[in-house]
Amino acid sequence: MDTKTVIVSEVKSIALVAHDHKKQDLLHWCQRHIDSLSPHNFFATGTTGNLIEKETGLPITKLISGPLGGDQQIGALITEHKIDVLIFFWDPLTAQPHDPDVKALLRLAAVWNIPVACNESTADFLVTSPLLASSHPRQTPDYDSYLAKRT
Ligand code: PGA
Repeated sequence: MDTKTVIVSEVKSIALVAHDHKKQDLLHWCQRHIDSLSPHNFFATGTTGNLIEKETGLPITKLISGPLGGDQQIGALITEHKIDVLIFFWDPLTAQPHDPDVKALLRLAAVWNIPVACNESTADFLVTSPLLASSHPRQTPDYDSYLAKRT
């Protein structure tokens, strides 16, 4: 797959998702890092977004709830270059009815080379990275070239 460079803005679009047993952890993480997070834009699956917006005041574009398709909505936004960072506190100890969607979301984040944190330690690394508040280049699949070769 050919790739191309896109320039990611210093104001990031950050997607937040947390499974039920991880929602309080994500909320506390957001509260701990509120100063670093507040300049950015947020998307979230429905229940996660309602909780974080209510408790932190961060404005959040709320999608449908994860088990009803919210993870897939975030995946679609990634393909449209509308998500720059994914913070996904998934629960490794509980079976999820939407496990295929979880896997699909993580796959698309890998395809489009989006930074992903699947636990709190990694999220700490991302939120303290100098790249969070600066413009930087990112390699993504070059869809125009992909299409040209297939048609
Ligand atoms: P929710 O979805 O924020 O609507 O709970 C999260 C998920 O389970 O994917």
